[in-house]
Amino acid sequence: MPLCVVGSVALDSVETPTQQRDNVLGGSAVYFSYAASFFTTVRLAGVVGDDWPADNTAMLQARSIDTDGLQVVQGGKTFRWRGKYLPNMNDRETLELHLNVLATFDPVLPEAYRQCKFLFLANGSPTYQMKAIDQCPAASLIVADTMDHYIRNEREGLDKLLRRVHGLVLNDSEAKLLTGDDNLVRAGEAVRRMGPRFVVIKKGEHGAMFFGEDELYVMPAYPTARVVDPTGAGDSFAGGMMGYLAEQGNFEPKTLKRSLAYGTLMASFTVEDFSLDRLRTINRADLEKRMEEYKSMLSF
Ligand code: AMP
Repeated sequence: MPLCVVGSVALDSVETPTQQRDNVLGGSAVYFSYAASFFTTVRLAGVVGDDWPADNTAMLQARSIDTDGLQVVQGGKTFRWRGKYLPNMNDRETLELHLNVLATFDPVLPEAYRQCKFLFLANGSPTYQMKAIDQCPAASLIVADTMDHYIRNEREGLDKLLRRVHGLVLNDSEAKLLTGDDNLVRAGEAVRRMGPRFVVIKKGEHGAMFFGEDELYVMPAYPTARVVDPTGAGDSFAGGMMGYLAEQGNFEPKTLKRSLAYGTLMASFTVEDFSLDRLRTINRADLEKRMEEYKSMLSF
């Protein structure tokens, strides 16, 4: 089944302790779309300025990612983010954030997008995340992501959004910020009480935790020695997870658990290079091979 995503499309600049890249393809909806495209057709909605290289769009289209919902604002500038990783490669600082055309983004979804049963609201303002929900009456699974910026600055909108989504994915530090609770088990349950039926807390190299109506489990990260750039790991996780759910066409507890495993593996590939560079070198067979290794690591 096709999967619709609304979120940021960006030109990122990334500094790691040993390397730097400027103006590379990024954004929450881009990482998400690319990861999900291993499983299903993705319909991407976002906004860019006329400084956006057309090659980027062509590359996404070559992956069967529908870009009809990608607005190009003439005379506008694409959203830019600059981040710097600390030597532990897990913590990062945002050095610059220029919302540019994203500040006034008003998603208008093409007809094919409005029919989607699976909708993902990648990192972005709760205001436009909500507008996307309003345009997708057929969506039976709506999952959102959020981040510190929106928890701090758009709390009222976020609270409303949480009452309209079925699932939420967020980082451990964001779950603590949102609930004011430093214990992740309590924080996960507290987020669930804010609205979503399930919550996934991502813990970077420490994996992910799932909180559902009747279950709580952890999914360890796939151990990779080659951590080059963690940017987009969370969005690729969500792309792998939602892509698999859309491919299977259901979100039963068993399918959800497997989807978290696929999300974990997509994230493990993303961190192995800058931007989408590592994901662009793999295919579904590589993913399944890693899945077999991951499964055997987990069985005892
Ligand atoms: P992740 O590493 O999965 O948290 O995602 C990093 C991506 O999020 C980068 O490609 C950024 O362009 C994008 N990003 C950073 N800040 C924001 C923001 N405030 N709103 C939307 N997207 C953002």
